[in-house]
Amino acid sequence: VVKPTSRGAVTLRTAGPFSKPRIVHNYLGSEEDRASILAGMRMALDIAAQPALQAVTTGAFRAPGPDVSDDDLMRYARTEGMTLYHPTSTCAIGRVVDTRLRVLGIQGLRVVDASVMPSVVRGNTNAPTIMIAEKAADMIREEAAAATSTVAVAGGA
Ligand SMILES: Cc1cc2nc3c(=O)[nH]c(=O)nc-3n(C[C@H](O)[C@H](O)[C@H](O)COP(=O)(O)OP(=O)(O)OC[C@H]3O[C@@H](n4cnc5c(N)ncnc54)[C@H](O)[C@@H]3O)c2cc1C
Repeated sequence: VVKPTSRGAVTLRTAGPFSKPRIVHNYLGSEEDRASILAGMRMALDIAAQPALQAVTTGAFRAPGPDVSDDDLMRYARTEGMTLYHPTSTCAIGRVVDTRLRVLGIQGLRVVDASVMPSVVRGNTNAPTIMIAEKAADMIREEAAAATSTVAVAGGA
């Protein structure tokens, strides 16, 4: 489920800046994600059942047959499934920061990391995060240059 519709949350436990946040991923929280994981598992089982794979799907590896229930597959997904380590979007553009990554309602504070993605990308998150950082560096430089030239013009006048 690389494009999940389930939404988790990062919230504060206390007002203390050193207390750890509460992070709730809420994996497989939406009907769409549950349907997606079931469809993916059934497709994998179908592939595993093909004659060309018999040599590796017998013996130690015993996949369940097509009559396995959705409940059993779901139980397996919940106990054995794992994260791809791509959490994003807790400070999404439009909700927490503006399109120049400035925190809404607070002056002089930007967020520049994977948390500003409006939604998680389908692929890996490292390269997009680097792109966000490069773009932010350009914007910060632009703004600094504009501020300097304004001061110079004001000084000249
Ligand atoms: C195990 C694992 C494997 C992954 N594999 C891949 C992969 O193969 N390909 C891929 O594209 N992505 C991968 N990712 C995802 C990718 O690493 C992240 O999406 C990306 O690093 C996010 O960048 P970021 O700057 O938002 O956060 P981070 O890279 O987590 O950077 C946050 C930084 O803030 C620092 N920090 C935290 N608290 C403080 C503090 N109080 N004061 C100062 N500094 C602080 C941390 O030390 C850290 O350096 C993987 C992630 C994990 C965990």
